[in-house]
Amino acid sequence: MTTLAPGAVIGIIGGGQLGRMLSMAAAQLGYRCFIYAPAKTGPAADVCAKWVQGDYGDAAALATFAKSVDVVTFEFENVEPDPLRSIAAHAPLYPPIDALEIGQDRIREKTFAADCGARTADWAEVNSRADLDAAITKIGTPAILKTTRFGYDGKGQARITKPGDADAAWNALADAGTLILEKMVPFAHEFSLLIARDQQGSIAFWDAPENVHKDGILATSTVPAHPKVLEQVPAARALARRIAEKLNYVGVFAIEFFASDEGPVFNEMAPRVHNSGHWTIEGAVTSQFENHIRAVVGLPLGGTKLAVPGVEMRNLIGADADKWLEWASDPLTHLHLYGKHEARPGRKMGHITRLTGL
Ligand code: AMP
Repeated sequence: MTTLAPGAVIGIIGGGQLGRMLSMAAAQLGYRCFIYAPAKTGPAADVCAKWVQGDYGDAAALATFAKSVDVVTFEFENVEPDPLRSIAAHAPLYPPIDALEIGQDRIREKTFAADCGARTADWAEVNSRADLDAAITKIGTPAILKTTRFGYDGKGQARITKPGDADAAWNALADAGTLILEKMVPFAHEFSLLIARDQQGSIAFWDAPENVHKDGILATSTVPAHPKVLEQVPAARALARRIAEKLNYVGVFAIEFFASDEGPVFNEMAPRVHNSGHWTIEGAVTSQFENHIRAVVGLPLGGTKLAVPGVEMRNLIGADADKWLEWASDPLTHLHLYGKHEARPGRKMGHITRLTGL
């Protein structure tokens, strides 16, 4: 392992808000970021050293991009893994592509997590209308039908409260490839773990945020979490450690859990910095973005302790961001806007982090 000295260039695949916050953390440490994304511009464009427009599937363009940087990482996981392999001949790529591939498919992800000792919701694979009936008979209702690939922010999901809902759910998702029916997990709290692993294999965890989703989209992340969540954090961390080590992971990743009466239930993982970790920018000694950059350039991880009594991160979705002046006027609130020009419903325009307990 060699540590890249400040001045080196980090290539980031994807140019959304995560790329923006990664680029800002990298700049603070003296590194420069080149972004590779299919769009002409994006939230990371304002803060990166160079923007390269190219398709995620274009292996030759990705290889050329890799030659222009010292290390490559990604902030967007819905990219085909094969073209990314062309990067490896020209620059190190972190996190490993295996983590990306596993995280892209809900069935592989649940199977992998269960192999690592996770408890998951009961589930069944669905490839036809008949499979859906069989799955409902097997796991019961209420359940939730999801696409196995390329779903995000609650997209590609249909709830099945009673067997009679099967037709509507099937009609909504029949064209979306292989599906998974998951039993609804009764839970009082949702939480996530944010995990960083460096190139030497050292692992660090931040305090686990308690997350509330609305319409499948993360609404708030709060630290400290409810005591019922805190009780489950040690078991969740032990699992996360096994996952990180099995993948030989380098960088930051997140795992989302339901805190059920039986203990933590693994929901999904994201092989990248995560929305439920945005609070770490002001709330922790080192942010998830800085530690991801540290890991990929070969630096040791920074401390992950809570730096304030508490935080509440709230996403600004669509028109929420119109109240920017209100948030900017609150002395305990940090306002983050992502520079997106059009506030479509459901679109993450920014977030606020309110420091609590001060
Ligand atoms: P996902 O895209 O799988 O993270 O789902 C988005 C949100 O829907 C989750 O954070 C939960 O609030 C809810 N949800 C998804 N799957 C389940 C499940 N099996 N049981 C209970 N709630 C779920």
